Amino acid sequence: MESVILPIGSTEQHGPHLPLGTDSYIVRRLSEAVAAELKTDLLPVLNYGISFEHADFPGTISIQPETLIKTVREICEALLEHYQRVIIINSHGGNTATLRRLNSGKTIFIDLFDFLKKILNDVRDTEIGGVCHACEIETSLMLYLEPSLVRSEKITDEIVKYIPQLDPQSEEHLPDGWKTINFSNSGVIGDPRKATTEKGEKIFHTLVQKITESLKQDSQKGE
Ligand SMILES: [Zn+2]
Repeated sequence: MESVILPIGSTEQHGPHLPLGTDSYIVRRLSEAVAAELKTDLLPVLNYGISFEHADFPGTISIQPETLIKTVREICEALLEHYQRVIIINSHGGNTATLRRLNSGKTIFIDLFDFLKKILNDVRDTEIGGVCHACEIETSLMLYLEPSLVRSEKITDEIVKYIPQLDPQSEEHLPDGWKTINFSNSGVIGDPRKATTEKGEKIFHTLVQKITESLKQDSQKGE
């Protein structure tokens, strides 16, 4: 066995209609599909990450960036005793900058958002700059992957469509330290009313295909 996938998600509020483990459910299903395509081994999801921006909402759990990086580094060290390559697949934006630091040599970092950005305009009916959360995209993915966990009747009417402070293109951009509660009472950023199962299916399979292709190219480079 040469490669193994380590999926990393989060436990954090996703508005009234999605479960706390949304990121973890999504990354588990994505990683299962990628592992099947590449015939690699697959670890259970690491369900905790850096979610301080959602701390005002119950059920959110955060670990410090140093805790996350130390934990993941030690997991990778143990795996590299037996595997040639560890592929980290991350689905939570709050983890991205910290985990990217591990991308070197035998540890490959795959961030969902790097791939999502390229396909967003083809699938999304809402416009939002920068961050969105429990939005059209995440809700569509959950409707497709875990429909029994989506409480559609609780989808909020408080729609937060655009927040310049969260948009990297805006002059008002706040890179760090922002709190979801300051922008959204429900915890949702974006418009989950636009979510559909069909969009979720399209996003999911496109992500699996693009991530798989990128990892195949990467392993060819390494040979
Ligand atoms: Zn999420």
